[in-house]
Amino acid sequence: MKVNSNFELSDGARIAVLGGGPAGSFFSIFALKLAKQIGRDIDLTIYENKNFSHEGPSSCNMCAGVVSESLVQMLAIEGICLKSPIVQRAIDTYCFQTTGGDVFLNSPSKQKGIATVYRGGGPVNQTDNEHETERKSFDDFLLDCAEKEGAKIENVRVEDIKLNNGRPIIFSKKGQLPDADLVVGACGINTKTIQAFEELGTGYTRPTTIKAYQSEIHIGEQNVSDLFGNAVYVFLINQ
Ligand SMILES: Cc1cc2nc3c(=O)[nH]c(=O)nc-3n(C[C@H](O)[C@H](O)[C@H](O)COP(=O)(O)OP(=O)(O)OC[C@H]3O[C@@H](n4cnc5c(N)ncnc54)[C@H](O)[C@@H]3O)c2cc1C
Repeated sequence: MKVNSNFELSDGARIAVLGGGPAGSFFSIFALKLAKQIGRDIDLTIYENKNFSHEGPSSCNMCAGVVSESLVQMLAIEGICLKSPIVQRAIDTYCFQTTGGDVFLNSPSKQKGIATVYRGGGPVNQTDNEHETERKSFDDFLLDCAEKEGAKIENVRVEDIKLNNGRPIIFSKKGQLPDADLVVGACGINTKTIQAFEELGTGYTRPTTIKAYQSEIHIGEQNVSDLFGNAVYVFLINQ
């Protein structure tokens, strides 16, 4: 056991991170960096069942893919630099279209500092777009960053979590996974795994959610440039 009663992880402690989306990767990157800074050796594995390099919705953590300028800058300070082919288009404006009129929010730096990214391998069947840039998933890129810091990545879905004498045990379809001193739930809220966390009896309950519908409509790169320019449009309809 590599954790004391103050929940302090000691040398050789094992961490299992459930989910390799942004939360899982960021947790891993910073946990490993901080552990190195204080001279502590931790063994960290990220369990993620998706393959973010495949095209289409099943490989994508649904999102509009807009990374705010402040986040782009904060990541750059940490040495995580977002550039092509992770950034598909650099933009400088948010346009909110409301029933009361349009509101434009320009990037303070006016340097196209807002990034748009693909979370997965991008939309399917878009070979007609000869100008489209190379693709690299944002989530895949962050996993690469975590791996460079020393994280192990396992392409495994965690099916269940139990507590045994206060220690977490995690299971895949094939059985029990290696022991962990700390299990980190970074599995998003659209997963059955949330229920397993609730059933642990730690008092955790999932946050309330609302349903959203997301769709991709291919209009071609030229039309995007002509109609939207370097802006992302948010339609705030009267609901
Ligand atoms: C319609 C919509 C549009 C959005 N647009 C934006 C935007 O433009 N910009 C922005 O910044 N944010 C946006 N967001 C929010 C953003 O998507 C989330 O904040 C972000 O994805 C949360 O990251 P996460 O890592 O917590 O969870 P997720 O991105 O959901 O990642 C969780 C990961 O855990 C994995 N996982 C789940 N269960 C298991 C398991 N049992 N075992 C192993 N792996 C598991 C999943 O496969 C997934 O990869 C949007 C959200 C929605 C719904």
